Amino acid sequence: MPELPEVETIRRGLAERLPGQTITGVRVRQAQLRHLVDVAALHEHAVGRMIMRVDRRAKYLLVRLQPDYVLILHLGMTGRLWVGPPADQDALHDHLIFSLGPDLELRFHDTRRFGMCFLTTEARLPHHPRLSHLGPEPFSTAFSSAYLLERAQGLHKPVKNFLMDAAVVVGVGNIYASESLFLARLRPTRAVGRLRLQHWERLCTAVQQVLQAAIEHHGTSFSDYVDSEGRQGSFQNQLFVYGRDGEPCHRDGRLIQRMVQAGRSSYYCPGCQR
Ligand SMILES: [Zn+2]
Repeated sequence: MPELPEVETIRRGLAERLPGQTITGVRVRQAQLRHLVDVAALHEHAVGRMIMRVDRRAKYLLVRLQPDYVLILHLGMTGRLWVGPPADQDALHDHLIFSLGPDLELRFHDTRRFGMCFLTTEARLPHHPRLSHLGPEPFSTAFSSAYLLERAQGLHKPVKNFLMDAAVVVGVGNIYASESLFLARLRPTRAVGRLRLQHWERLCTAVQQVLQAAIEHHGTSFSDYVDSEGRQGSFQNQLFVYGRDGEPCHRDGRLIQRMVQAGRSSYYCPGCQR
């Protein structure tokens, strides 16, 4: 499943090619994605509008249209976006095709159809049901050790589950939570209510470091993730603990352990992480 670094990589690719292009047509081959796509709204409000910018909020891509509409795209588990010359024929799971004049198109392909596409306005965007509950972005000033300390007060949740809660901070998925906790030298099971400011400082820095490094490596490719140019990421070669159970820790040589928390695999070094 694409996480924040993968979505940010895709955003950067789209941001190089889409601004200045006008949506000249939309074809919806399958409207039943995770939510039903409002085909009439796309025809009425997206067609004929110029794309101004491509932004991101959590794992949602925000394609900003002139003057005040926002096309929200989410890749779900297996979604892909392609920008290129119009294809000769549609592939089986090509669900949405946005024509951008005669020579370019944006294609949304999704085998499992957990992806999403909504159209809203700038005014309604902050209240959109998919976005309104989201916590701060990990690279924003709102994401700080003081904020995390305050937010964790009185909670007994394990720190890994806390970190993966989108209401606390967006974009820290399973891989990046394990990696951040390794860098911060915290065991994934530590109860958040008992962590001190110094722990949160380490964790805050670690989350930003891990996500930044992953973005620089164009994300992590395990199965079918590719960016908008069809390229794979390479962060999977930089992982300290994720997927490395039974292998030696790069820091102290102890064997990396795996355990299951909230139904997801967690990986940690029993030597480095307390
Ligand atoms: Zn270690």
